Amino acid sequence: VAKGFKAARNKLKGRTEITPEVVDDALRDIRVSLLEADVAFDVVKRFVARVREKAVGEVVETKVETKKGLVKVTPQDHFIKICHDELEALMGPVDTSLKVNGRGATGVMMVGLQGSGKTTTAGKLANRFLKDGKKPLLVAADIYRPAAVDQLKVLGQQLDVPVFHQAGLAPPELCRRAMEEAARTKRDVVIYDTAGRLAVDEPLMQELEDIKKTVAPDNILLVCDAMIGQDAVRTAAEFDRRLALDGFILTKLDGDARGGAALSIKEVTGKPIKFLGMGETLDRLEEFRPDGLASRILGFGDIVGLMKDFEQHVDEQQAEADAQKLLSGDFTLDDFVSQIRLVRKMGPLGELMEKFPLFGELPEGFQFDEAALGKIVAIVDSMTRAERQRPDLINDGRVKRVARGSGRSEKEVKDLLKQYNTMRGVMKQIGDAPGLLSRLPGIK
Ligand code: GDP
Ligand code: MG
Repeated sequence: VAKGFKAARNKLKGRTEITPEVVDDALRDIRVSLLEADVAFDVVKRFVARVREKAVGEVVETKVETKKGLVKVTPQDHFIKICHDELEALMGPVDTSLKVNGRGATGVMMVGLQGSGKTTTAGKLANRFLKDGKKPLLVAADIYRPAAVDQLKVLGQQLDVPVFHQAGLAPPELCRRAMEEAARTKRDVVIYDTAGRLAVDEPLMQELEDIKKTVAPDNILLVCDAMIGQDAVRTAAEFDRRLALDGFILTKLDGDARGGAALSIKEVTGKPIKFLGMGETLDRLEEFRPDGLASRILGFGDIVGLMKDFEQHVDEQQAEADAQKLLSGDFTLDDFVSQIRLVRKMGPLGELMEKFPLFGELPEGFQFDEAALGKIVAIVDSMTRAERQRPDLINDGRVKRVARGSGRSEKEVKDLLKQYNTMRGVMKQIGDAPGLLSRLPGIK
């Protein structure tokens, strides 16, 4: 994924002074990388110019005073930081708030092309409002595909949120009645799920304008599929022109898309990105954070986001200790198991890999099958304390004993030890990588 970016980094490796030629060379790779991430050409051009201006003459080796003492910042790190900050700046200022209606129910209108994720995201937003103690009403205003109404009803049932629909009504009238229903039943948020088309067309736009006129929603959010890349920008510009959008939601960022479209959308329309869709289920909606997306677009993984996920599950100090340990390569089998547990709590492992592409460089065949965790725990539980602390003690005789004790085969025990060693090595490698440690919270 991050070939261009890594290449750029490598070009700066080992240098203490960075000439304009070296910067240009590195920026060429970055340019390719950004285009591959679906950032629009004009935006890339401007970005590169800005980074160049900042990097030339300024990118040097320095030391930075931190809580942990002096930390060396290499020219590579410095350059990356400039790129990262510049990307963040392009995506800012961050505004993930939704407007609240002071007098009646707050209206949120979902618009977008067919298949972009409107219905799913309507459900995700309802879920979010529920968690905030609100009483949402979902409105099925996509009347052209019967399945669309059913789809929303299923989501409503899952959430125990009412879904408003009346057959035979034109969408604007249907939405108007939904508003009345919300007032009558004391719902405080109304989420309108509207129809989409395969491409922007006049009847669609007209219908959406009519709905807007009829219910005057407080928020009109365009849902964009991150996978459609550059096309998302054109769509966004057109929807914004017709409907004066309040913001965007970029979906399917759990897939391969690197999300460069987000940057272009922001740059082209000037409207903020509100949320990111990170999966098909209703809990996979994240508030937009530019730091995470900047890292992702640059292709070095959402390290900040990863660390925040850690923090949610363990207290901050513990997280820092764990992270240090994890990256020092000096961790025991007990740590190994607790790290796997932690990782599992954060959601599907694939998602973690996504955030931390360095994991993607693990040797072939290396994987924690999620279902295998029980097996791993059983094996580790059959080891003595000393063995867990010092797995190198486990010779063939001990492997036999552990296998018997855990009811697993000797091969499984050996495989586990191999995985542990690999993980330990990889972690150490990550920890040794210049600059990575300094990006952990608390060491900044
Ligand atoms: P709509 O036509 O705009 O209403 O789109 P839908 O909500 O029906 O979504 C279209 C497809 O995209 C469905 O299969 C969804 O499950 C899927 N989808 C929506 N959001 C996400 C997301 O954030 N990640 C993934 N992986 N799939 C999503
Ligand atoms: Mg739909």
